[in-house]
Amino acid sequence: MAPQLDAIVVGAGFGGLGAAIELDRLGLREFVILEREDDLGGTWYVNRYPGLAVDIASVTYSYSFEPNPYWSRLFAPGEELKKYADHVADKYDLRGRMRFGTVVEGAHWDAGNEQWVVAIAGGDTLTARYLLTATGFLSQPYTPPFPGIESFAGKIIHTTAWDDDYDLTDRRAAIIGTGATAVQLVPEVAAKVAALTVFQRTPIWVVPKVDAPIPGVVQGLFAKVPLTQKAARLANTAMLEALMVLGVLHYAQAKPLNTAAAALAKAHLFAQVRDRRTRAALTPHYDFGCKRPTFSNTYFKTFNQPHVRLETNSIDHIESDGIVTADGHKTEIDTLLLATGFNLWDVNFPAIEIIGRDGVNLGKFWRENRFQAYEGITVPKFPNFLSLNSPYSYSGLSYFTTIEAQMKHMGRLFTELFRRGERTFEVTERANAEFLDRVTDKLGSSVFYGGDCATARSYYFNQHGEAALLRPTSTASAHREAVSFPLDDYTYGRTA
Ligand code: NAP
Repeated sequence: MAPQLDAIVVGAGFGGLGAAIELDRLGLREFVILEREDDLGGTWYVNRYPGLAVDIASVTYSYSFEPNPYWSRLFAPGEELKKYADHVADKYDLRGRMRFGTVVEGAHWDAGNEQWVVAIAGGDTLTARYLLTATGFLSQPYTPPFPGIESFAGKIIHTTAWDDDYDLTDRRAAIIGTGATAVQLVPEVAAKVAALTVFQRTPIWVVPKVDAPIPGVVQGLFAKVPLTQKAARLANTAMLEALMVLGVLHYAQAKPLNTAAAALAKAHLFAQVRDRRTRAALTPHYDFGCKRPTFSNTYFKTFNQPHVRLETNSIDHIESDGIVTADGHKTEIDTLLLATGFNLWDVNFPAIEIIGRDGVNLGKFWRENRFQAYEGITVPKFPNFLSLNSPYSYSGLSYFTTIEAQMKHMGRLFTELFRRGERTFEVTERANAEFLDRVTDKLGSSVFYGGDCATARSYYFNQHGEAALLRPTSTASAHREAVSFPLDDYTYGRTA
């Protein structure tokens, strides 16, 4: 029985759009993109909290083959990213292939028919020769189980479900969490509310954000002479690459660079916060890079405002009108803003149940063994399956370098499959084991294993204490491997 479709892509964020563009390029035109939300854009559709913006310069945080000359700022605000996603979907004619409000519950490999059977909430199933999951890394919002939270009588908003109609003016608000989201949100909320308490468990490294509007004349230049924007992208990418490769991945060899980044963040804090005790509380006690650092010119300053308070005592429980900390102090609030991030390792790898050959369950396999994926994209026993958000897949600082390397990997793999006239591909156990050994070995030089990350509580680490999220190579090396991996790292075949 032939499958209904060539391919199913799960997720209509930038990863899914990239995969779909590559499928089209390969001539696999019969595919659908299934999306649980009611619009496209992934993170940039779901996250709409005040202050949302990229923190990787926009010339770099975009597809290299689809530059946007019209970013309004060096670091574009969130709604421009959503518009950019819309533009890409329209230009590459992908919108018609998207099915919104479609929650994929699971998928299993049907070996007899060499196809994936994808189960959709509500009872429908779809079959396809290939399955590509692009479900994101930060797509499963996390609300900690604070005792008593259900009794809170005021308004609760998680940053991934912002309520635009809720007026913050004159509220007594709390923000729980001090990750990259809170760093953007705190100054915006402080500007509106009567009182704000920020509950911090772990401080975050924050360095200055060199941001400015991009004047019309520069936008015009980027549009007329695309090479100028390419040059800007190259310069920014080189800087990010140096930070990542030297400061984080080669921490053992280039410790002074890491120390310099921490010193910059400390100087930034010193320049912005006058109160010594607040400064001390905002200073991390783990190495720079253990946890994702962030950029802001306004976050630290906010704590100088008389109506803003930093609370570092741990939360004991929540009552109908406030938050009680372990020291017994109650902070009375009417608005609770949860900037508590995402659950990566319990529910996101993979985001849906995937059953491969011989009934192997991907989530169970990863949890019972080690988290692993050859080149961060394929797994033995999962034929014709590309998992775009895999362990060791995230390469560099801009997600687009990961997406484009994966598009290249897809291109090389499918081209070989078609050249051989075969129907299935599967990565070999040997190639997968060698890749895992290699990344494990390389991580030995990184800040994750060589630095002091004990108090970071970083989502880069999984439940086994492994830093299995980032690919510990340069993006140049990731791209090189994507276009030159040994073709016999895969087996190819057909049963009928
Ligand atoms: P996050 O980095 O995971 O931060 C979650 C925060 O909630 C942390 O401060 C965490 O404290 C706190 N928290 C969690 N459980 C808690 C508990 N039980 N009690 C007290 N505090 C608790 O999430 P995020 O800030 O949403 O950012 C996630 C990622 O999204 C970022 O790292 C970044 O990659 C991305 N992001 C990017 C941008 C951008 O500009 N491009 C903006 C926002 C986010 P602990 O640290 O102690 O666990």
